[in-house]
Amino acid sequence: MTNVIVEKEVRKYLRIKYHMMKGALKLGSVSGIKIEVHWTFTLLLIWVAFLEIQEGADLDRILLNEALILVLFVCVVLHELGHALTAKRFNIGTRKIMLLPIGGVATLEKMPEKPEQELLVAIAGPAVNVVIAILLVLVVPVKSYFSFDAVVLEEVLYKPTFQNFLFYLLIANVMLVIFNLIPAFPMDGGRVLRALLSFKLGRVEATKIASGIGQALAFIFLVLGLFFNPFLILIALFIFFGAYGENQMVQRNALLKGHLVREATLTHITQLSPVHSVQEVIDILLAGTEKDFLVVENATVVGIVTQKALIKHAKTPSLLVRDIMDTSFTMVDATAEITRVLELMGSKKKSFFPVTEGGKLIGAIDSVNISEFILLQTSKM
Ligand SMILES: [Zn+2]
Repeated sequence: MTNVIVEKEVRKYLRIKYHMMKGALKLGSVSGIKIEVHWTFTLLLIWVAFLEIQEGADLDRILLNEALILVLFVCVVLHELGHALTAKRFNIGTRKIMLLPIGGVATLEKMPEKPEQELLVAIAGPAVNVVIAILLVLVVPVKSYFSFDAVVLEEVLYKPTFQNFLFYLLIANVMLVIFNLIPAFPMDGGRVLRALLSFKLGRVEATKIASGIGQALAFIFLVLGLFFNPFLILIALFIFFGAYGENQMVQRNALLKGHLVREATLTHITQLSPVHSVQEVIDILLAGTEKDFLVVENATVVGIVTQKALIKHAKTPSLLVRDIMDTSFTMVDATAEITRVLELMGSKKKSFFPVTEGGKLIGAIDSVNISEFILLQTSKM
């Protein structure tokens, strides 16, 4: 599967996939985009070899199939680069392209909100496979394959020849195009659908409809997967939760539109000094509901101490705050939009930010408080 997804939502709603992302090997990078392969990809190679051996295939045929998977995944990388490089034209970066047994995933910082841009980014991936297929049609005598009758064709195709290899690759690229254009949001076809609906209905309504269709199709994939192919089950889950997550995000962002950081800022919070001991902070942690803390010196934030860091250093309670604080924090202005903070949470992988207004520290904002703010907005509707 070839998909463009928004990372922050994956982190929030797709815990399964988030854990799958661990254990990846970096293959290289293309114009600043890391290309990684997940270790489970080797399971696909083993599984295919296993199936071939079971059918009594000889070594040539096994090697042909393994090579086919590897070359096909090169096509998948090119497909993902199609998305990523098109997004780059709209100033949207891509953190990485990950190869999983079910396909490739390009982690874009976000999707373009203008429907015409989303349309181009979504279509660019399958377009790459169309180009590859056209190039293959030029070198493979496709006509000759269709002139055989079924029995002869099966015999011809079984031979591990280079021409057959290219023919399989051609078919696989055509399948990739067809599969990706199924309008199951957030797959490419679903994104095309959302973009087209957005022209008429606006993004919020369009996403609601597209993700509903995506989830219905995911259910069909799930049922088909149970009977025919276990990979379809994984893809179904991916689509189902992906559609759910993105719809949540779009609805949430619509709810937060126009609301400023100031409105959801925590102002009654404990400020630590760099010379507080870890034990003192653990006591504060246990006595209240705060989880992360600002470290302040001369009315300026100099660091952040997270609950995670406290737990990590609990065995050395005499350490000082300045030894364990995180100094790579990002300040947020009170007049920025809350959605900006959500973007930062995705890109910086942090959930706690100091807030200033007119250069003066007024508090902090975190994901829990934003969630609370969203719930309050929902209850007002
Ligand atoms: Zn794609």
